[in-house]
Amino acid sequence: MSEPVLKAEKLDAADDLAPLRDRFLLDDVVYLDGNSLGALPAGVPDRVADVVRRQWGELRIRSWDESGWWTAPERIGDRIAPLVGAAAGQIVVGDSTSVNIFKALVAAVRMAGEDRTEILVDASTFPTDGYIASSVARLTGRTLRAVTPAEVPAALSGRTAAVLLNHVDYRTGRLHDLPSLTAAVHAAGAVAVWDLCHSAGALPVGLDEHGVDLAVGCTYKYLNGGPGAPAYLYVRRSLQDRFDSPLPGWNSHVEPFGMRPEYAPAPGALRGRVGTPDILSMLALEAALEVWDGVSIDAVRAKSLALTDFFLECVAAYVPGGRVESLTPVPHEERGSQVALRCADAGDAMKRLIERGVVGDFRAPDVLRFGFTPLYVGFADAERAARVLGEVLGGA
Ligand SMILES: *Cc1c(COP(=O)(O)O)cnc(C)c1O
Repeated sequence: MSEPVLKAEKLDAADDLAPLRDRFLLDDVVYLDGNSLGALPAGVPDRVADVVRRQWGELRIRSWDESGWWTAPERIGDRIAPLVGAAAGQIVVGDSTSVNIFKALVAAVRMAGEDRTEILVDASTFPTDGYIASSVARLTGRTLRAVTPAEVPAALSGRTAAVLLNHVDYRTGRLHDLPSLTAAVHAAGAVAVWDLCHSAGALPVGLDEHGVDLAVGCTYKYLNGGPGAPAYLYVRRSLQDRFDSPLPGWNSHVEPFGMRPEYAPAPGALRGRVGTPDILSMLALEAALEVWDGVSIDAVRAKSLALTDFFLECVAAYVPGGRVESLTPVPHEERGSQVALRCADAGDAMKRLIERGVVGDFRAPDVLRFGFTPLYVGFADAERAARVLGEVLGGA
């Protein structure tokens, strides 16, 4: 057997998280796209069937109370909280990430006050964040400036209202320095809004520890909530009284069934709610989150780094020199949980990888993305993916 194969065997044998793979329904495909759509947790199909047949079909309207439907957004938020380093009572689940970015950024600008006239946005951001930031700037009468995360400290000033940043760059897998950037934003008196889509469930975030103001994230990537699963919104406890939602729907009213003409916000994280929650998706997410029972996010991070290190090592061994160039930073403190390889004919290469049972994804114009989800990806998967990539790109 070749050296990488032997090494993969050893690493898998020593991997304490390896048994967690049984908490998912998987086949023998090497699935490296969990940073786009997480795999299906084994407990979800039966839970969804119960929610549909019994809770909806039999209990019907009673389920809003008896099945805990009404309180699901904050209950499931509390289930996500420890995964992102937040104490209970600061996260609600609901709506899409895009909608939550809108809520968070408008609320951030309102908190910052009238004299703060500029919003900063991550220039390398996932497009939806940039589109929404632009709309928020127009709606609130602020200017918007796109800067890279590295340029943020120099761009901050007494005019800065809010800064919207991605924790991990969706394309390159670069991890940005959340503690120091948040501290810099605070030193300028501005509000820090973080998008955790590519970090939550893959690495420790430390929202409370680092004093993050507002954060949003999706649940269908590393949190395996299912296609279109609802996103979440974090509002730091000390800011909740000042969180003035631009979408103050009846679900965030202090007395939602009082049916009053005037709006009065509920206390706490509940202010982030809007309208009737998407119960079927939300309860699928709740079942999906059970895979985290007893799992340490630090252990997940350690395995994620070992996987991406090993994958890069195997790529170097199998892929002919010069065929790919890694965009993913080498230092661990700058790396998320994916490897992005620039490659001349990336779209075609990914098609052929998928045909051979290695599923990653392609991001235009020339990037192959491989997401490593430590709960169900092992070292033999990393070795096989790199070996097939080498074959596809004309290696040995
Ligand atoms: C995946 C992702 C989104 C997705 O937003 P949706 O509203 O769920 O479509 C937003 N921002 C970032 C950074 C993402 O990675």
